[in-house]
Amino acid sequence: MPYFAGRWDSGRSTDTFDVIDPVTERRLVTLTEAGPAEVDAAVSFARSALDDGEWGRTDGAARGRMLNRLADLIEEATELFATLESLDIGKPGFEPRAIDLPQVIQTFRYFAGWADKVEGRSIPTPSYMGRPTHSYTVREPVGVVAAITPWNSPTMIGAWKIAPALAVGCAVILKPPEDAPLTSLLLASLVEEAGFPAGAFSVLPGRGRGTGQALIDHPGVDKISFTGSPETGYKVAVAAAKGFRRTTLELGGKSPQIVYADADLEQAAQGVGIGIFANQGEVCAAGSRILVARPVYEEFVERLVGHALNVKLGDPFDEGTTMGALINEGQVTRVSRYIDLGLKEGASLLVGGRRPEGKGYFVEPTLFGDASNSMTIARQEIFGPVGTIIPFDSEQQAVAIANDSDYALAATLWTSDVNRAHGVARQVKAGAVAINGWAPLNPRLPWGGFKLSGLGRELGWSGIEANTEEKTVTAVLSYPLPE
Ligand code: NAD
Repeated sequence: MPYFAGRWDSGRSTDTFDVIDPVTERRLVTLTEAGPAEVDAAVSFARSALDDGEWGRTDGAARGRMLNRLADLIEEATELFATLESLDIGKPGFEPRAIDLPQVIQTFRYFAGWADKVEGRSIPTPSYMGRPTHSYTVREPVGVVAAITPWNSPTMIGAWKIAPALAVGCAVILKPPEDAPLTSLLLASLVEEAGFPAGAFSVLPGRGRGTGQALIDHPGVDKISFTGSPETGYKVAVAAAKGFRRTTLELGGKSPQIVYADADLEQAAQGVGIGIFANQGEVCAAGSRILVARPVYEEFVERLVGHALNVKLGDPFDEGTTMGALINEGQVTRVSRYIDLGLKEGASLLVGGRRPEGKGYFVEPTLFGDASNSMTIARQEIFGPVGTIIPFDSEQQAVAIANDSDYALAATLWTSDVNRAHGVARQVKAGAVAINGWAPLNPRLPWGGFKLSGLGRELGWSGIEANTEEKTVTAVLSYPLPE
């Protein structure tokens, strides 16, 4: 049921949708969808919470205390969050416990620290008609922020949007993914417990074309913070263009992982394996194009295939499972279609490629070798456990292949040469480059991409900028200038 205006309320909506367990294919729960009337009510209430309500009067120090309290409550509920995340998404239990939840907690704490430190600037300006001037800037909350999240890591990606927006005093309306909404609903109850006043935070469950579209079209929304596919990102950009509302778009990727001949090959094989198989490959920054220097190609590929063979596919709640199920039947069909295309276009299937018999949306960890960058499996985002391995002959060729993509989100370099590492990092087109590790996540580090990978940055100081408007104030003083 939707949560807005400080209470759980299904409003006038009678529409519902089912949330399915990707492992058993059974219905987990049926939720009421927020319709246009509930979207309108949530936006109006958020607006008045900011303009005339308690939230608009809450100062930075108090917001920081609430965010810290929220982080504590999430920490206490880690087990529940992790269980719901595995149930909803099909990811193995260690992932939310080791990655998503620690990230969520750190993100709320990090932005709690910013809440009373968002300062403006004092800028020296010349005199005006012989009178001295005093100019400064202030950063004000952008207003009502619609946060729309995808199903692959909804809790963590939600935190990336919610924490900075609440820290600076925006009102946030979260539209969680229809396939995995459960942790977002749990979060709403903790936000309330943490003491945030009504209207500061709302959650509107529902499908994209219904709730999502109504939210992005609503003129009372000042900013849309979206993470999802480029196709939906385009719709968000078009909707936001009306009124030139602000957007942050975190979209897909086809990120290269470049393995040079001087890399520690075992460390690289492990890291590259995590880069493509973590979270079933349903990761925007998945290192799905694996570029390998020709002299070490055979040896590296053998190690990486060994890594894939060690992956234990199964029920996320079974001990030892290292890869779970994909999110839904549609995703299995999509990934299987790419595997067929890889075979048809002439790449060598090295491991995996099948959907195991029985219930559940499982696909084996899959690697294609001897591929070229022009193949469909090297160009389009698969969003599943499928890695495409491409050999290269020179450093410049590796950079050229890496940059020959419609996407520019992340890149990973594996080399023991520090000069090469930083030199190539500057040449690769990506929002984030990791050297000898895969996509280190941290709320202090700005995150985002360009080209089809999106627009703007979240996290770090960039997360504060993305949720504030900088206002310039100039006072002309009636005070004589010194002779
Ligand atoms: P999606 O675009 O289908 O859905 C994302 C969200 O948008 C969902 O909440 C959905 O309900 C909503 N939505 C769908 N249509 C909408 C509409 N017309 N108006 C408003 N909202 C709408 O994407 P997905 O399948 O959930 O997620 C997978 C995609 O997300 C992949 O392309 C992946 O790369 C990307 N992703 C990017 C990042 C990143 O940080 N760059 C992180 C995770 C996922």
